[in-house]
Amino acid sequence: MEVGNIVGGPVTPRLARYLWAAPNSLIGLLFLPSTLFTSGGCRAVDGVLELHSGFIAWVLRACVPLPGGAAAMTLGHVVLGRDPQALARTRAHERVHVRQCERWGPGFIPAYLLASTWGLVTGAGMYHGNWFEREAFEGERAET
Ligand SMILES: [Zn+2]
Repeated sequence: MEVGNIVGGPVTPRLARYLWAAPNSLIGLLFLPSTLFTSGGCRAVDGVLELHSGFIAWVLRACVPLPGGAAAMTLGHVVLGRDPQALARTRAHERVHVRQCERWGPGFIPAYLLASTWGLVTGAGMYHGNWFEREAFEGERAET
């Protein structure tokens, strides 16, 4: 069994990381049927399921409260992208969010929303002031 040191503490088996992040991944999997019915696709990359479709592109564009929407979004071990190019372009950033989901498990989404609220309240911005996003941008820069 492959092991890793994702959480910075004791070595956590891969299966445990998938199970801990599963509540987030299950939300992401709800988008899987849309890849069949709205001309999309799915692909496993490094243990992460990447999905894109017309419906997913619409959700990322119209339902994410950012100017112009989002290019991609991570839900556990599922990453939603507007198209294959967006998934490739954002991969390093989204993989940091995958590791965050592995660390925070079912608490990831509430903690992310709390961090966005904190960023909004402090004036740093709900996106760029969000601790999870700052860590993802740092990780993205370290990859490039
Ligand atoms: Zn991000």
